[in-house]
Amino acid sequence: QAKEQGLGYQFYRLDLENLSSERLTLENSLRRALERDELRLYYQPKVDLASGAVIGLEALLRWAHPVRGMIPPDQFVPLAEETGLIVPIGEWVLRTACLQIKAWQGEGMPLLPVAVNLSARQFRQPSASGETEGRPLSDEAAGVHDLVETIERVLGETGVDPSCLELEITESILMQNLSTAANILQALSAKGMRIFIDDFGTGYSSLSYLKRLPIDTIKIDKSFVGDITTDQDDAAIVAAIIAMAHSLRLKVVAEGVETQEQFDFLLERGCDAMQGYFYSKPLPAEEILPLLRSTRNS
Ligand code: C2E
Ligand code: CA
Ligand code: CA
Ligand code: CA
Repeated sequence: QAKEQGLGYQFYRLDLENLSSERLTLENSLRRALERDELRLYYQPKVDLASGAVIGLEALLRWAHPVRGMIPPDQFVPLAEETGLIVPIGEWVLRTACLQIKAWQGEGMPLLPVAVNLSARQFRQPSASGETEGRPLSDEAAGVHDLVETIERVLGETGVDPSCLELEITESILMQNLSTAANILQALSAKGMRIFIDDFGTGYSSLSYLKRLPIDTIKIDKSFVGDITTDQDDAAIVAAIIAMAHSLRLKVVAEGVETQEQFDFLLERGCDAMQGYFYSKPLPAEEILPLLRSTRNS
């Protein structure tokens, strides 16, 4: 038995080595992915529940890896956040989304705002040099925060109106540094950008507390939406979130809507909009205009 344990240990150790060397390989190739133009944005429509009209798009990051194929964000965004690579990647996301908005405007697509996801690391970035270690994070003292500066610069360079850009942030961003986050959101909202709270219900913030920040819309996390038609607790939670949000004059989007039954439940409870495979998966940019045309004609 001792022998087996020894072997088990051996395997375990080897596994860890594989894991860390794979991590390093991933980190290095992610570092080069930007230069090699391997990142892509897919776009998923947000649909008004009452009218069925597409009211916006969410930009979702993919990595078109030359060997592994299309890698979903869950497999590399956490590493990008740990290593700080999410800061240049986040700027690429902003610029690419803005360039796409411009391209669509040129193609005569109806004007739809595009939402990008922001990560906590982008809120933590100190101004100017871009260094993140060894310096106090005195954003307030430095005046305009780097994130605000970056977004304004990208909007200016691409000629996109701030009202066309929406920002999705998670509750955890607010939890990590409320006063900095509040200042940043205030500045961005004053420029005309709408702010969404992502994955609502999975963090710890209350709606009344969110109401004190310049937030337009909350997105109910798909983990609640998945079982609304079969689980009484999830149904009650979702119905309560919608009712409370509305009483605070916040709009509500449900994520991960996959079935007609979920759609009907949300419509009945007065939810404003939905996003999910029931209408469309995230698609490459060139498939969005044909999708909008086909659904308008049907
Ligand atoms: P999220 O912001 O909550 O995005 C929603 C996720 O749900 C997306 O996964 C989307 O493809 C998926 N989804 C949409 N409709 C359905 C549905 O009906 N059923 C199911 N099962 N899933 C659905 P995706 O694209 O894999 O993105 C995962 C997460 O990665 C995002 O969650 C977001 O947190 C992060 N992410 C994506 N793009 C970016 C980015 O540009 N920057 C940062 N910082 N994070 C990003
Ligand atoms: Ca999101
Ligand atoms: Ca989510
Ligand atoms: Ca998420």
